[in-house]
Amino acid sequence: MEIKILHMDAQEMAFLLTGVGPRLANAIRRAMMSEVPTMAIDDVVILENNSSMYDEILAHRLGLIPLTTDLDSYVPREVCGCGSELGCSRCTATLTLEAEAVGEPITVYSGDLKSESDVRPVSGRIPILKLAPGQRIKLEAYARLGRGKEHAKWQPTSTCSYKNVPRIRIDGKRCDACGQCVRICPKGVLRIDGSKLVVANEMACTLCMDCVRACPISPPPIAVTWDRTSFIFKVRSVGSLSPERIFKESCKVIKEKAIEMHQALSAT
Ligand SMILES: [Zn+2]
Repeated sequence: MEIKILHMDAQEMAFLLTGVGPRLANAIRRAMMSEVPTMAIDDVVILENNSSMYDEILAHRLGLIPLTTDLDSYVPREVCGCGSELGCSRCTATLTLEAEAVGEPITVYSGDLKSESDVRPVSGRIPILKLAPGQRIKLEAYARLGRGKEHAKWQPTSTCSYKNVPRIRIDGKRCDACGQCVRICPKGVLRIDGSKLVVANEMACTLCMDCVRACPISPPPIAVTWDRTSFIFKVRSVGSLSPERIFKESCKVIKEKAIEMHQALSAT
């Protein structure tokens, strides 16, 4: 198995995974989406709310705000064992929100949530609700670690996908470089170089086969196939964790599951 990073920044990562089958590739994808824990608001105590928004809708909106996650300082509530309904400092981060419209209507943003810990909204520009003059909200929100399989608000990724590595072959002897395939390709994979058709960007191919169908020659001198043991992954984080950490944590989850299965098999 080999891993090659194609692109990485704070939000997004693309990597090439070679020497594995689709089963493992899919297990990694699913683990990244639904098994890697992140922080999200799960309990809200509304102290005051005379706005036009119901408490339940307000709590639901707060739950969907992505929060920065410190996986090294917090443990899941089921592991913590504190037994407290609203958790303790090991398993729960507390955020508070207090806002009032005086004179003018105001919009309350995620940036108005105050936190004494490192757990805070990834972006301060997410609108939560509007308050008319005289309206006021005051609440305490409790964030805890959870997994995407429990609720989508705990998913660490907004995009998590893979595709097989494309392989494009051109029979230069039969191709007359008419350019039909170049014009129809939405990704700019092919190019006419002088009087020859060449592959300009093989990795960008989405295997749509439009180029093969557009070719007027039968059988087409262009063949698009894919490598069944190589995958291009694209992971985009919601901002809770870095894409690199999401990938590493997903591998840890798969390893733990494999150990658990091995132990269960040994016990039979
Ligand atoms: Zn606890």
